[in-house]
Amino acid sequence: MAKILVDKERCKGCKMCIVICPKKVLALSTELNPAGSRYAIQMEEKECIGCRLCGMICPDSAVSIYAERRINLPRSQT
Ligand code: SF4
Ligand code: SF4
Repeated sequence: MAKILVDKERCKGCKMCIVICPKKVLALSTELNPAGSRYAIQMEEKECIGCRLCGMICPDSAVSIYAERRINLPRSQT
C-alpha cells in the first residue's frame, strides 16, 4: 500500500501516469487546476503496490510517492 500525492498545479493531465500504472488506481479529477487542466488523483490507496512507475514517467515531476516500509525485526529466542 502506498499513498500517491500529485501536485495539482504542476500536473497537466497528460495521463501518462494513469496509463502506466499496473494496478489502475490513478484517474483524472473532475475538478480543474488553476491552469484549467484535470489532474491525476489516486483512487484506491490499498491497491497501490508502490512500484513508483507513475513518479518515474511523469514529465513534470508532479508525483510524490509515500510507500509504507516494512521492517522485519529479529525474533527473540526463548
Ligand atoms: S506506485 Fe505503481 S501502483 Fe501505485 S499508483 Fe504509482 S504506478 Fe500505480
Ligand atoms: S504524468 Fe504527471 S503531468 Fe501527466 S497526468 Fe500524471 S501527474 Fe499529471
